[in-house]
Amino acid sequence: MPVDASTAALTVQPVGFIRSCYREKFGIPRQPGLATSARARLELSGACNCLEAVNGLGDFSHIWVQFLFHGTQAEGWRPTVRPPRLGGDKRVGVFATRSTHRPNPLGLSVVKLEGIHQDNGQVWLELSGIDLLDGTPVVDIKPYLPWADSVTEATSGFAPEPPENHPVLFTDEALEQCRQYQQQTGHPFQQLIMELLSQDPRPAYLKKRSRSDYGVRLWGCNIRWRVTEKGFEVFSIEREDR
Ligand code: SAM
Repeated sequence: MPVDASTAALTVQPVGFIRSCYREKFGIPRQPGLATSARARLELSGACNCLEAVNGLGDFSHIWVQFLFHGTQAEGWRPTVRPPRLGGDKRVGVFATRSTHRPNPLGLSVVKLEGIHQDNGQVWLELSGIDLLDGTPVVDIKPYLPWADSVTEATSGFAPEPPENHPVLFTDEALEQCRQYQQQTGHPFQQLIMELLSQDPRPAYLKKRSRSDYGVRLWGCNIRWRVTEKGFEVFSIEREDR
């Protein structure tokens, strides 16, 4: 029987998987490029795990990464959603948003390509500025072409500006923990925490609650912070077993 292209299910195989600093959804910026110190490895898999498949890609500074929202896939989708930008009260069509809950749960992010490496038979791309959860399956990679992909006269509906910046403070203890973990792991804890918290990662419903203590998981650490009158204060960084 000829396949009816209008109804045929598509099968896609992951070309790789993300190993990211973000170990849970809470705290991840809502778009790529908003936390430039966020890093991930994209480890190529199966038949794509070969240097030939990425030959020439290293000459591009940025790439498109198309991926599966595997962490929310099981929750399904609705035709309308309430974007955080509209305070979580107003509904708009799913296709007017970048919600993770979509009929085909695919995401698309432009990220910086920091390098291409191979270790013990594993080919991986070093990425920065990511908005991707650890374990994310990647279904395609393409070079970003600024002359074709950047639209200078574009408008952006209900999200006309990047997120507002909030002040971020550290207690002396948290600052010392940042310094120690940075030294031990080489990860830029303080910079990344500042980038993430300054965007206020709380969903709209949490902003309305009186709760003031939160945790964000990064690189196997729980970053604990609270809402104060002066801004968001980081008061402890605890190592966790993964
Ligand atoms: N830039 C992409 C896009 O436009 O398709 C993603 C936008 S989506 C609003 C970004 C959010 O997706 C992040 O804040 C994070 O909470 C969530 N996210 C990232 N990776 C995910 C995954 N693998 N599964 C579920 N949610 C994920």
